[in-house]
Amino acid sequence: MARYTGAVCRLCRREGQKLFLKGERCYSEKCSVGIRGYAPGQHGQGRKKSSEYGLQLRAKQTARRFYGVQENQFHHYFEIAERKQGITGDNLLKILESRLDNVVYRVGFASSRAEARQLVGHGHFEVNGKRVDIASYLLKAGDEVSICEKSRSSEKIKSVLEANSARPVPQWIDVNRDQFTAKVINLPTRDQIEAPVEEQLIVEFYSK
Ligand code: SF4
Repeated sequence: MARYTGAVCRLCRREGQKLFLKGERCYSEKCSVGIRGYAPGQHGQGRKKSSEYGLQLRAKQTARRFYGVQENQFHHYFEIAERKQGITGDNLLKILESRLDNVVYRVGFASSRAEARQLVGHGHFEVNGKRVDIASYLLKAGDEVSICEKSRSSEKIKSVLEANSARPVPQWIDVNRDQFTAKVINLPTRDQIEAPVEEQLIVEFYSK
């Protein structure tokens, strides 16, 4: 399935909540969810209550859009989560959180996950000292992400770091802005993950 290239604010409005897809704008008064808090389209204001299936589908779409993952890959993550020991929903979220683009965004090395994907794709990051340009690369406990030496002086990277310097960093990542590094201390537990995701509904969706 092709990547969505339309107006991303429509995705938030469709899900009825902020998915933080646009960087700084998401924290401002310009956010479309605040201005037009109803679904987009001609019938957006008149939508009826969802069925059980509808709720499960929306939960899956919300998570997919929040993390910027395509359908096939999301399903693949679910299959891995199911095979792992423990609670499938928690496992799924852990996998999504461990993506390189997510960590780059979480620590403020990018303004949004979309920007993180782009910066990773352009080769601005290393993992444990080796350049990695795959946004879906899954990090493990102990891995260290760093901004490549050459990229540290680029205007783009400097402005991104400045714009996101005050963003809180999750407890499970140790970031050192002076050294341009972020170390994954451990993969997060559910209570350490801030995400508008109802993982149990996603499990139900795929269990049909
Ligand atoms: Fe747009 Fe961000 Fe608001 Fe979503 S949270 S509607 S992406 S400004």
